[in-house]
Amino acid sequence: MSARNEAVPVAGQVKIYSRAEHNVSRSQISENALKVLYRLQKEGFDAYLVGGCVRDLLLGREPKDFDVVTNADPDQVRKVFRNCRLIGRRFRLAHVHFGREIIEVATFRGAGEEQNDKQVLNKEGRLLRDNVYGTIEEDVWRRDFTVNALYYNIKDFSVVDYVGGMADHKTGTLRLIGDPEMRFREDPVRMLRAVRFAVKLGFKLDPECEKAIHNDAQLLADIPSARLYDEAIKLFLSGYALQTFEMLRHYGLFQVLFPATENSLAVEEDGFPRLLLIKALENSDNRIAEGKTVTAYFLLAAFLWEPVRILATEKVAQGEVEYIAFQDAASEIIARQIRSTALPRHISMAMREVWSLQPKFNARIGSKPSRLIGHPRFRAGYDFLLLRAETGGADPELAEWWTRYQNASENEQRKMTQPPRRAQSNKSGRKRSYHKKANDSAAKTES
Ligand code: ATP
Ligand code: MG
Repeated sequence: MSARNEAVPVAGQVKIYSRAEHNVSRSQISENALKVLYRLQKEGFDAYLVGGCVRDLLLGREPKDFDVVTNADPDQVRKVFRNCRLIGRRFRLAHVHFGREIIEVATFRGAGEEQNDKQVLNKEGRLLRDNVYGTIEEDVWRRDFTVNALYYNIKDFSVVDYVGGMADHKTGTLRLIGDPEMRFREDPVRMLRAVRFAVKLGFKLDPECEKAIHNDAQLLADIPSARLYDEAIKLFLSGYALQTFEMLRHYGLFQVLFPATENSLAVEEDGFPRLLLIKALENSDNRIAEGKTVTAYFLLAAFLWEPVRILATEKVAQGEVEYIAFQDAASEIIARQIRSTALPRHISMAMREVWSLQPKFNARIGSKPSRLIGHPRFRAGYDFLLLRAETGGADPELAEWWTRYQNASENEQRKMTQPPRRAQSNKSGRKRSYHKKANDSAAKTES
């Protein structure tokens, strides 16, 4: 391994931070995680908390979940806990169930690349399989960043540090263990994790790590699209979507995840395209901050709206009817997108619905508005309309009309949707105006 890099675990070169030297307190650790740790210890095994939970506890944050590592192999773990299931094929893990809480128990992973012929790398150096068990020193290698490689030992409540993770913690630095280029080649998703942690923790990337991302961003394109979708969701539903977006773009990672969106950002009309997306990201972050729910499909609909709109506009210019142009554009853009990140079917369906509702908001006369309001996706479609109106993509007066319409009494609603009087009284002009209106609404409302 890279001898140049300081963050390399060396047997015997370990720093142990005693309980008095760190702030991880048992009172902040899930009771169930403690039960698992104590039980393994009682059975004579080593047991540690590791990864994000130790990192978060050191920062005084509440961990999302608690991961345990041990020298017990999965079958031994299963014998210790009745409420335990083994999962995973690539690397077997034990899940210990306590009602809704699951404590994940992994066995120390095996040795580094050179010594290990059970580890399979592809020709780019990507890790395909490493189903072997090992010691804690070896396990450190399976971690990505030094701050994610701190082990909390249940035996004496100390924090065990092989890679200078504590020091990086203090300076707020994300540093890869070992040679950054090599670690990114093994698993390019680590580049996305770097951004996710930098934003979430307010840490900075160490310069070597930054340089490697600049060089290797394109490696992400080889990752299975389903895994990239999962990572993208974690990135953008984190509550820091806007900052994440900016940082991903800065490192050239965004274009690999959402190439069509990246291209559409270059096509600026009075700055509108970027604004819609930015507003959507901002809204989503605000909602999370207020404890409200956010949905992936809404944000993804915002990501791909400009590509869809631009393509549909081209199709209309070539003579396609508007609603068909929109449907075709939606299909094409979704088909292109899933080459980068998968889109589960229920997500792409919901995205299409949000898009296809947009032209329908133009119909304000007759029974269409009351039918539209009963559409299962009305709320999302309306929120999307507001977003367009706020960022210059739709008439603010239209959005305001729909806001009023929703809050109006039935009687008022009827009045709001009546055809203008002029059209009713003007006999000679009736036919013409009817035709004109029919054309208008066909163009704008069908989809
Ligand atoms: P989060 O707060 O999002 O859960 P986390 O650090 O716990 O962050 P997990 O995905 O839960 O992230 O992974 C747990 C630990 O496993 C990490 O802290 C890291 O040590 C290790 N790990 C996870 N994914 C990778 C990876 N792709 N490469 C190397 N190590 C990884
Ligand atoms: Mg975790």
